[in-house]
Amino acid sequence: MVSRVIPVDPFDLVVFGGTGDLARRKILPALFRRFCAGQMGANARVIGAARADMDDAGYRSFVSDAIAEFDPDAARHKDHLDSFLANVSYVVLDAKGDAGWDKLAATVQKGRVHAYYFSVGPGLFGDLAQRLHTYGMADANSRIVVEKPFGHDLASARDLNRVLAQHFDEHQVYRIDHYLGKETVQNLMAVRFGNMLFEPLWNSQYVDHIQITVAESVGVGGRGDYYDRAGAMRDMMQNHLMQLLCLIAMEPPAKFDPDAVRDEKLKVIRALDPVAPDNVVRGQYEADGDAPDYRTQVETPDSRTESFVALKAHISNWRWAGTPFYLRTGKRLKDRASEIAVVFKEAPHSIFGAEAGRHRNILTIKLQPNEGIELGVTIKEPGPGGMRLLDVPLDMTFAEALGEDGPDFPDAYERLIMDVIRGNQTLFMRGDEVEAAWQWADPVIQVWEEGGETPIPYASGSAGPDDALMLMHRDGRRWREIKA
Ligand code: NAD
Repeated sequence: MVSRVIPVDPFDLVVFGGTGDLARRKILPALFRRFCAGQMGANARVIGAARADMDDAGYRSFVSDAIAEFDPDAARHKDHLDSFLANVSYVVLDAKGDAGWDKLAATVQKGRVHAYYFSVGPGLFGDLAQRLHTYGMADANSRIVVEKPFGHDLASARDLNRVLAQHFDEHQVYRIDHYLGKETVQNLMAVRFGNMLFEPLWNSQYVDHIQITVAESVGVGGRGDYYDRAGAMRDMMQNHLMQLLCLIAMEPPAKFDPDAVRDEKLKVIRALDPVAPDNVVRGQYEADGDAPDYRTQVETPDSRTESFVALKAHISNWRWAGTPFYLRTGKRLKDRASEIAVVFKEAPHSIFGAEAGRHRNILTIKLQPNEGIELGVTIKEPGPGGMRLLDVPLDMTFAEALGEDGPDFPDAYERLIMDVIRGNQTLFMRGDEVEAAWQWADPVIQVWEEGGETPIPYASGSAGPDDALMLMHRDGRRWREIKA
């Protein structure tokens, strides 16, 4: 099934850092795909702006190469390429100086939506915001898009918010968390709030616990220097896993509108208890066969940065008191697999006797590598031989029902960029949410940093340190297998 496409208004999108890795791998291919889908009109323009000395023709060839490499459907879309490139241009520009800004101001067309994608390090956000203002490009039609990391801690996140707020209102600032752009994450909200079936059970009376896993099989690769200054808690837990936890735990918003949703998410973060040190496990991967040791991939040979973190979180409110949330994320794990599992309690009494075993319903929201929602239900094992129970997954993605080849949905970056143009902030983090998440994460990190704590080594290709398994075992529970 081809998703229904509603074209957006004409726009100019300036990609600051338009020659960088993120632009090449994600932003430019995403724009091209929306162009091919007919969502981005023929008059929408993409303007790359970066330091590299390049002319329009050079940039078009850069964009064309990026599409060939990172749009999986590039061959199918090749007839659209020339018309897309016709509206791509480039300005050589220095975020920290005045070079290029007059030209950019003359290029951007008045009277249409202007989106400025800050695909540069956060150290340049203030410079860009200020120059957009100075050169007359920060008006009511403009939006800025900022990438992670949004701050390194609470103080730096506050500084960033303050710097951006000097020239842009909150409703013009789009803080990207690409996990929120995933089809399934939105489907989670549809399942929760569009059905009567789940919400009455969605609380500590019926939910035993919730597990959120974001496992990567790759190591830090070429991002070692950045990663070593961040670690798994800052790079993944404070933002991506926290956002997923919010969507699972929040109260039903009155409307599906940006502030209503974000108000509810903020309440969840504020209701989180501080994490006790014995409820957190941090690890660092070791060499295994051809896979190198973490410490050989970063600049600091005795680095104490964690490449894995697992923790148990509690939300102190009426809905969730007593239901633990177990969160884990790490690199060089067994598989690339991300999922949320809502594990319901067992039925209070089994009428089928001890041999039938104990069964639980589990709602699994799979995010990576393939997206989907499954509800594990218990049925009778078909055939003769008495009453034997069997757990089977009920596929709630209904891909077959939606079309023979499965749905053709935009990926997270495609959806989020179009939301920026439409002016819909529902799937973007608000400044106060980001600050509240740092307020929760900072004390955990401080304990490690002040105590000089060394992460526990774990074998590459494993499920992380054994202590992380113990985090659940000691509560009589088990992590789900990390499996793509
Ligand atoms: P990169 O180093 O590959 O690219 C940086 C870009 O910024 C280049 O185009 C460079 O020319 C430009 N630039 C640097 N200094 C400049 C200046 N003074 N004036 C004008 N342009 C300047 O970085 P990246 O990997 O593309 O990351 C960009 C941002 O996105 C960073 O904040 C990063 O943390 C974030 N991010 C990246 C990824 C990723 O997968 N690459 C993922 C998530 C978030």
